[in-house]
Amino acid sequence: MTRKANSLRNMPDLNGRFGEFGGRFVAETLMPLILNVEKSYEKAIKNKKFIEKLDTYRRDFIGRPSPLYFAERLTKFFGGAKIYFKRDELNHTGAHKINNVIGQILLAKMMGKRNIIAETGAGQHGVATATACALFGYQCDVFMGISDIERQKPNVQRMKLLGAKIHPVNSGTATLKDAMNEALRYWVSNADSHFYIIGTVAGPHPYPKMVRDFQSIIGEETKKQILEKEGKLPNTLIACIGGGSNAIGLFHPFLDNHEVELIGVEAAGKGLRSGKHASSINAGKQGVLHGNKTYLLQDKFGQIDDAHSISAGLDYPGIGPEHSWLNDIGRVKYLSATDSESIKAFKLCSKLEGIIPALEPAHALHVTGKIARERNKNNILIMNMCGRGDKDLPSVLPILEKKKL
Ligand SMILES: *Cc1c(COP(=O)(O)O)cnc(C)c1O
Repeated sequence: MTRKANSLRNMPDLNGRFGEFGGRFVAETLMPLILNVEKSYEKAIKNKKFIEKLDTYRRDFIGRPSPLYFAERLTKFFGGAKIYFKRDELNHTGAHKINNVIGQILLAKMMGKRNIIAETGAGQHGVATATACALFGYQCDVFMGISDIERQKPNVQRMKLLGAKIHPVNSGTATLKDAMNEALRYWVSNADSHFYIIGTVAGPHPYPKMVRDFQSIIGEETKKQILEKEGKLPNTLIACIGGGSNAIGLFHPFLDNHEVELIGVEAAGKGLRSGKHASSINAGKQGVLHGNKTYLLQDKFGQIDDAHSISAGLDYPGIGPEHSWLNDIGRVKYLSATDSESIKAFKLCSKLEGIIPALEPAHALHVTGKIARERNKNNILIMNMCGRGDKDLPSVLPILEKKKL
């Protein structure tokens, strides 16, 4: 890969920094593992066979390329800009997570590691990893907080069926951040045989870069597809943000197209002032968690605060370090949507397009609708439909019934 001077796509630097963010804040014992992953990864992406394998699994197992779809009825409904969906919910296992998992498991294979570790919150990354492990015949250890195990039963059942072993995590708030701490600990004590597949653009360098690179297929396809359909680049790209992997995957190939506006949507939960949200950029402070420096939800003593969102996939108290940097240099705007705004968008999309979105992209859809209304019909918006909503019916239906929505 040639590096263009002054490109925003050259980050991170050799120390894994995005400006002041990112880096590698890990225990000495973890350092050799991380350095080994970095070295192997840099070798892999220059290896023609590795890239060919990745392309084959993308096409034949994941089902890529995913379509770019003109959402005609929603466009009419909002009465302004043209709305397109990048249909990553059509991927095998129902979300974008598998794009990254297939890349990392191929790397594990190249490194001779046959045992895979993963953390999971909602269970989507756990399911994607258990799926890939079944495909490769590898052992899969998934760390999951006990609160999440209770909240996400169907995904726990899917992981077990696929052959994964679930390690319940009791510490802290028994949710995603604690599962990730435990997974990192387990990795240190099983270093020789195990590879840790992180599910979003977080963790110590090289994970934020590596996960971004594997997810960038979303933006690369989008660029080609919109040029074919419209003969020009879009005005605006919109994606929801948990840790930030589907968003950076869509944005990254467009970072140097400065005329294309980029918008990330955080979960505002019950409102930014309620204290019950997951908006690390809009309402967090700088700190260090899971091996990198970034914006985090924290109290005045610097302890990590609990995140809240109706959507389990956005329920993370941090954000990938590249997003923190893109926010501070002003290249990406970070807005937010509340639980109830997202539920309305969830219902609207199901009724008007015949697509039941996951609650995560329903956050992005709320903001997409607001922007579409303010623009004229020559304006083009593309939203990443990063997951399907079947998994969300048990949590959404009772709310819809109660509110008679
Ligand atoms: C996991 C997940 C997210 C959040 O993760 P990112 O790394 O921010 O993409 C969003 N949407 C869906 C459908 C997910 O499964």
